[in-house]
Amino acid sequence: HNLLGITEIQLLEWMTFIEIIISVILIPTLKAIAPPYGRHGGSKWGPTLPAKLGWFVQELPSFAFPVWYLYYVNAMPRVNVVLLMMLAIHYFQRTFFYPALMKRGSSPLPVFSFTLAITFCTYNGYLQSCFIAKFAKYDNGVLFHPRFTLGILMFFVGMLINIHSDHILRNLRKPGELIYRIPNGGMFEYVSCANFFGEVVEWSGYALICWSLPALAFLLFVLVNLGARSWHHHRSYIAKFEDYPKNRKALIPFIF
Ligand code: NDP
Repeated sequence: HNLLGITEIQLLEWMTFIEIIISVILIPTLKAIAPPYGRHGGSKWGPTLPAKLGWFVQELPSFAFPVWYLYYVNAMPRVNVVLLMMLAIHYFQRTFFYPALMKRGSSPLPVFSFTLAITFCTYNGYLQSCFIAKFAKYDNGVLFHPRFTLGILMFFVGMLINIHSDHILRNLRKPGELIYRIPNGGMFEYVSCANFFGEVVEWSGYALICWSLPALAFLLFVLVNLGARSWHHHRSYIAKFEDYPKNRKALIPFIF
């Protein structure tokens, strides 16, 4: 039992439930107000942090939790180790490489959205990692199941799409510029937010392997958050560029 007088699994169940409820509440909220950073940020959101520093610190908890559990929980079944490694690999890239590669002079990060992001990364980092490390039960035969193979494939293909698309976006600006251009190439031929599409594919693969409510709650949150952000991005491209490709969707090729 912990400070709340409930067992850790009960705490994780509550946290999963709360993540689902918050995702549902966020659907109308984020449709009305775009997640306030980058092109939807600006001075009206109050004080800001340098983007590189902000991204590094806000994402760190999501990297630290899986690493901590990989290190401290002994004799974990192989499937659980693979799942924790997937979290650690994704967030290693996001915590260390993504901010390092960001151009100097990127839009500053509002402290407000930094606070929301670090709260989510701590909350969800603990929820996913602790559930996998201590409670998720899998038969080792799962490693040879098509669901596992498909999940791993989706995760790494999604990650490649995400990294490749962020690379394309980074190279749209000359040093010191803070303008928006139409991205082309790769999955941008199909969607306005190819980086977010990659992210959705990644967490769908992860959820497919986990086959658990905490992973589903995470996927729902990602879908709502990036679904809304891509909808706002897509609308801003159409409003800004008369020649914006007509067949391009916001997030999911041919669908949304
Ligand atoms: P954006 O696509 O909004 O921006 C990514 C970077 O590219 C920013 O530096 C942005 O500059 C720049 N950029 C974007 N579009 C253009 C353009 N048309 N022309 C020139 N520069 C452009 O992504 P986010 O910042 O929201 O996210 C960054 C990464 O984090 C992504 O890989 C995303 O998938 C991931 N992420 C994951 C979430 C999750 O729930 N799992 C949540 C949020 C992000 P500027 O900042 O100045 O707009």
